[in-house]
Amino acid sequence: MKKSLICLSCPVGCRLEAVPDGKNDWEVSGNQCPRGVVYARNELTDPRRIVTAVVRSDSELLPFIPVRTDRPLPRRMAARLLNELYRMQIKTPVKCGEVLIKDFDQTGVNIVFSSNSNN
Ligand code: SF4
Repeated sequence: MKKSLICLSCPVGCRLEAVPDGKNDWEVSGNQCPRGVVYARNELTDPRRIVTAVVRSDSELLPFIPVRTDRPLPRRMAARLLNELYRMQIKTPVKCGEVLIKDFDQTGVNIVFSSNSNN
């Protein structure tokens, strides 16, 4: 079955088409460079995303502090991560880059603060 995707690896945004090659892989066309093939194969077999969110804090000045994953997380796990983050209230101060959750669900992905709390 043919799949259509847009490569998000760079701003060009090539329109890709992928068809099973009969050998447990995908034949990809429409890419202007090899990264498109890698993107399509990853997207069709193990899609991952950088996840961004905010967590509540005890600071009156900055009641929500932005966080993000330090590398792409399997997309199927994003909802579980967001549920955990939205239940949290963290103590300030925190620093940009500081780890909030280490090795989320044994994925090797850390959740880090993406700004300082400034107090
Ligand atoms: S295939 Fe290459 S040129 Fe096209 S969007 Fe992907 S990275 Fe950019």
